[in-house]
Parts: sequence; C-alpha cells; structure tokens
Amino acid sequence: MKRFAIAADVIDTDALRAELQDGGNGGFCVFEGWVRNRNEGRAVDGLEYEAYAELAQSEGERILAEAGALHGVDDLCCVHRTGHLKVGELAVWIGAASAHRDEAFRACRYVIDALKHRLPVWKKEHYLEGDTAWVACHHAHGEHSRTFAPDYTRQTRLREVGTEGQARLAAARVLVLGAGGLGSPALTYLAGAGVGTLGIVDGDRLEASNLHRQTLYDARDVGLPKATLAARRLAALNPSVTLRTWTEPLHAGNAADVFADFDLVLECTDDMRNRYLSNDAAVVAGIPLILASVYQYEGQLQVVEAGGTPCLRCLWPREPAADAIGSCAANGVLGPTPGVLGAMQAMEALKILLDLPRPREPALLLVDLLQHDLRRLPIDPATGCAEHGGCAAVARKALAEAQRIGDVDRRFTRLDEAAAAGYRLVDVRDAEEIATHPADCATLHIPAAQIAERAAALGEDRCLLFCATGRRSRDAAERLRRQGRGETYSLLGGLAALDTERARTHS
Ligand SMILES: [Zn+2]
Repeated sequence: MKRFAIAADVIDTDALRAELQDGGNGGFCVFEGWVRNRNEGRAVDGLEYEAYAELAQSEGERILAEAGALHGVDDLCCVHRTGHLKVGELAVWIGAASAHRDEAFRACRYVIDALKHRLPVWKKEHYLEGDTAWVACHHAHGEHSRTFAPDYTRQTRLREVGTEGQARLAAARVLVLGAGGLGSPALTYLAGAGVGTLGIVDGDRLEASNLHRQTLYDARDVGLPKATLAARRLAALNPSVTLRTWTEPLHAGNAADVFADFDLVLECTDDMRNRYLSNDAAVVAGIPLILASVYQYEGQLQVVEAGGTPCLRCLWPREPAADAIGSCAANGVLGPTPGVLGAMQAMEALKILLDLPRPREPALLLVDLLQHDLRRLPIDPATGCAEHGGCAAVARKALAEAQRIGDVDRRFTRLDEAAAAGYRLVDVRDAEEIATHPADCATLHIPAAQIAERAAALGEDRCLLFCATGRRSRDAAERLRRQGRGETYSLLGGLAALDTERARTHS
C-alpha cells in the first residue's frame, strides 16, 4: 500500500507503523523530520506550514509512486504536517517497508529529497525575537533557486536587447489572463525571457481534452487548478521569476484590483466576455493589452496601447451574444493554432517591454495558417469609440455597467449541491441538447433565447441557470439582472465543469 497525506493534526506514528506491518516485510525504514530550534543562525520558536493542499496531495502521491517503482517497494507511507508546530514537533513522517533492508532505505531517501524539492509547501519561521519570515521549501524558491543563475545571453546578444533590455524585463510585471492554449506558450516565453513578475489568472481545472494544445501541463495533472499548475511549471523553468496566481476568473468586481499591480496584460482566455472586460479594465487603467483569439485554423491579434491605439470596442462596440460565437470545444482546433498566436502575444509583449520597432498604423492582424496568409487590417482611429467620447469614456461606462450587474457566476461541483443550497435550477439549453444529454437533477427548462420573455416563470426564487459551458447561462443571467431581477446566477463552466460530468466523460 502507498499512502500520502497532508495533516493539520499531530501525526499518529504508531498507526502509520501498523499500516506498513506485513509478514513479507523484513526491512522497515523511518524518517522523521522535526522542527529545529535554529535556522541560518537564528533562534526559532516554532513553524507554520502552509500547503496548496490539492497540489501537495497529488505531488505527494506521485513521489511515493516514483519511489516505489524505482526501488521495488510496495509499502510506503508519508504524512506532512500543516499549521502551527512547536520546536521538537514532528513535521514529516516517512515510512518504507520492504522484503530486504536496502530497498526500504533507498525508497525512504528518495522520498525525503523529492518532498523537499517538489512539495508545494511553504514554511513560516517564528523567531524568538518575535518576528517571522516565510521560508519556501519546495523547488520554486528552495535550494535550486539559490544555486541556479539564469543565462539570458542568447537574447542579450541582440543589439536591441543587451543588458539594459534584460534589466527592463526583470523589472516588468506582466499579467496573463488564461493559462490555456494561448497562455501556455505566452507564459513559457515570458518566464524564459526573465520577465520579473508574472501574474496568472485562470479559474479552470485541467481537463484531458486540454492537453493537445496546453503545453504547460501533463497527463498526471488532470483535475487540478491550472493557475497553480502553471505557476509550478514556470517556477521550475525559471526560479528567478516571481509568480502570482488567481484561481478565480476575472470579473468586473476584481478586474481593477488584479490589474493594479501590472504594467502589461495578455488576454489569453479566448472568451468573449473576458476579452471585453479586460479591454475595458486595461483602457481605464491605462496599461497596454495584447488580445488574441483563434477560430479553427485562423487567428487574430490586436495590440491596444494605452491612450494611443484603437481598442477592442473601436472595432466591435458591443460584445456579441454568447450563442453567436463558439469555443475551441464547439469548433475544434489543432494545438499549434493557439500555439502560434500565443507565441505572437509573447513577442508583442517583449516588443513593448523592450521598446523594439513596431508598425505605426493600428491594425488587426489576421493569420490564416492553412493558406500562409498574414494580413494587417487597418483600424481607423476616427471611428468606433471616437464617436462616443473616446475609448476611456466608453470603457468606464461599460465597466460601471458590468459592476452594477455584478458577478453572476457561481461554482458548484454537483447540481444537487446547488439545489440543496436553495437555488432553483434552470436549464437554458436547447431541447435537442437536453434530449441527448439530460441533466441529472429536476429542473425548469427555458432556452436561453427565450429567457427574457419567460422570466415570470422563475417567480421570486433564487435561480441558478446552467448550459453546457456556462457561456449562454451567464449571458441569460445577466440579461435577467439587467431587467431588474436580482437573485439570478449562472453555473460557472456549465455542465462540463461538474464532477459527475467529468466522471462520465472520463470513464
Ligand atoms: Zn476604443
């Protein structure tokens, strides 16, 4: 048996030892890590461990599986503490049992080292003098980062970059919205280039269907939050980069706060709502935004620079209805298509940060990967927002409206959980979709297109609207809120995000 656990309580070593006892095991090796009273010359009073629980759990299980496979050991247990610990208290317990002594020793040793470098656990030391300090103890900021010196010579050799350009990159703070098909290459190149601070916003968990285009992840990560996974991968790629993560999606209520700490934003969600919201927030904040989107074998790229170039609303003043546009899930896509566009976004970001030559005329870049067609569609700065008081005024108004409507998204892992929480469930999909894919909970059916006319059927209840992906239901919920209906919400990610759905499609 192999068991890994993160524990908030005192570790019961007798119970763990009993779990590993087996008539076939002649060797048993235990490692106990205790809280020490000194570290780097300072007297320590106690410790506080904080973990990315889910990620720590999966990484811990992975380490035990590797140790077992490498050293032919079947019986391994490991428990890592979290929370406050006093000096002398047990922080980590590793037990390995095997037929012969040597395997148990080696497996135990492997787990000790791997935990230290890979487990996403941070410790805060409390010193006798009364102060505290966070001491990261996993690979991102551990021993590795102290010994690893990034080598940027391949890019500093460029006359336009040089050491001065590199210093600019190190000082830059770039926010990437969406760590998916576009975000994977964008983040990889920005971290590799040595951009000092990278922010990652992604509310999704990794799905198996993401792996063909989202190169930051691997098959073992399915089901885990992408922002956290991406940060782990990028920290391993370049330990000198400071990473900040948001595992909630951007919404009108948090956009200004999230944008406040960054100099440049890449919109990589390929979600229409998010594109408009980030456009408005970037224009209001006065920071450049690099937008990209993908449709089958084609892509679009637009750079919106503060106070200069036309914005997204200059081209398309209003966000199209959710059912008018598709997604990678609905339309299909080959991995390299977002790969190319995401890499172009990273290139545009580096061009802005390094002040490299760029086209003077504002344009929408259209990329057709089948026909090798790359076209610049000029944008007339005199039309669009210019006719309505300018980009900033238009963006401010749109943001205020979005804030007034509020965030309608609610996250649930099961529909009955929402029902138990007092939400009336409303299926806004079409009749054909419902017939082929019925929801496993009693609901009211009102197609999204009819929601406004049939709002009376909802009564005064608190409602949770849902569809396949969460886009149409969000649109419908916002339409109802605009009509003045208050307690109206939308299931974030739709049926595809539910646990039951995941179990069904993955089985
Ligand atoms: Zn504009």
